[in-house]
Amino acid sequence: MNDIAADLDLVIAKTRHERFRELAADPLATGLHEWIRSEAAKLRGEGYSSPSKEIAIGRVPRDHRLRVGFLTPCLLKGGTEEWHRQLVLNLDPRKIALTGLVVTQPADVERDVYQEFASKVPTGIGPEAAKALIDTSEIIVTWGAADFSPFKLRSDLRVVGVGHGDSQSVWGRKVIAALAPHVTHWVAVSESAYTPETNRSVVPNGCDLSRVKAARSRADVRSELGFTDKDRVILHVGRLVNCDKHLDVLVESMALLDPRYKLLLVGDGNDWPEILALAETKIPGRFVRVPFTLAIGDYLHAADDGILLSHSEGFGLVLVEYLAAGLPTISTPVGFAKSHPECFRIVESAGNHQAVASTIIKDFDDPDRLTRTEAGTELVSREYSSEAFVMRWEDYFQSIAPPPPALPSRWEMAKSLVKSVAAQIAAGNPLCTDEETDARLAVCEVCPQRIPGDWRCGGVTGCGCWLREKAPLKTSQCPSGKWPL
Ligand code: SF4
Repeated sequence: MNDIAADLDLVIAKTRHERFRELAADPLATGLHEWIRSEAAKLRGEGYSSPSKEIAIGRVPRDHRLRVGFLTPCLLKGGTEEWHRQLVLNLDPRKIALTGLVVTQPADVERDVYQEFASKVPTGIGPEAAKALIDTSEIIVTWGAADFSPFKLRSDLRVVGVGHGDSQSVWGRKVIAALAPHVTHWVAVSESAYTPETNRSVVPNGCDLSRVKAARSRADVRSELGFTDKDRVILHVGRLVNCDKHLDVLVESMALLDPRYKLLLVGDGNDWPEILALAETKIPGRFVRVPFTLAIGDYLHAADDGILLSHSEGFGLVLVEYLAAGLPTISTPVGFAKSHPECFRIVESAGNHQAVASTIIKDFDDPDRLTRTEAGTELVSREYSSEAFVMRWEDYFQSIAPPPPALPSRWEMAKSLVKSVAAQIAAGNPLCTDEETDARLAVCEVCPQRIPGDWRCGGVTGCGCWLREKAPLKTSQCPSGKWPL
């Protein structure tokens, strides 16, 4: 840049075009440097011979940030929201330009959850926002029953369908079947998560380790919840539903245990009234419920065993959270527990309360339960942290990134240049106002045709022009008709 500084000053003085300075600072702007040198030489009345080195034209190396957008059918208080929270909010902005998070079903939005995301990343709701997201992204990540039929999907767009459920989930299989015609790549959140086999990758989830830290002492939290030192507190964190978490079975199993065994439930869910009625009948005075909270650390450290009685789980993030907090855990063989059974006390059936009760007793009697749990805690901190999870996704995005758009041939660029120069001269060289120029460049900024890491128009229909120089010329046009009139 320094060696062309004088040439640049001269060209800017002549053209009154400060944008050249910004553009010339781009390390990829080799072609522009040559042009500036040649113009400056002409202005000084010097001869100028082009260097033997060819000005690089052709594919531009991928040095830009990938534009990635997330399309979700809902934003409620569940596992996929936590998954979005960890991923969407933590992607490295030096590698990924997040185009936004859009919810397709306005009815399935909880305002406070939406606000939490909206305060940190671009968000939107409904088909218009979804269209804008698709149009400005190179990669769309989706799950759930997103309806793509109203949208035109570019052939270079990568649509990643994420399988959060396992093959036991009828709903999960339906969702995958609905997405299949639009998806180009599949990601399973664990080995056992269900997706079609074509273009399938496994990108395991991770756990926000800050969430599992306790803010208060175990003794204080237990005393506040009404538990004594001698109590054996079994903890369930998650949705309070019977259909796939089998909380009715858990309550029935607790009723078979002696009164030292207490139940702590943390979460919300449609079946809570039913579960409450059952617990009041079967285990009166032996259970406590805490409504949904993200700050689960205190409860993880106050309990003695974590439990998950699910027959269908793609990953089961809570299993990782239990282990991260050093909590011995009982689980059915699903998701993470299926991948790492050595870290858990496994109960084969989610529906048999006698088996659950005897497994709980067996776990408390097992002298090795803390050693087993320590190995799990170590595994989680090594491989299943939030940071490791986000990095896995960043690497995955790079691995499926569409190739950068190519510039058109020199001949095509020459024709396009001559045509636009002729039109501009014929019209008396009219220029746009700064506002008009900025409006044009704002469209280019998010346009997939723009050459990444550069400000040139490329791709299938691109003209190859330097956009910052072309945009101010009133008669110039976007080859795809995207500029405001
Ligand atoms: S000129 Fe048009 S096609 Fe080219 S990058 Fe800009 S908006 Fe996209």
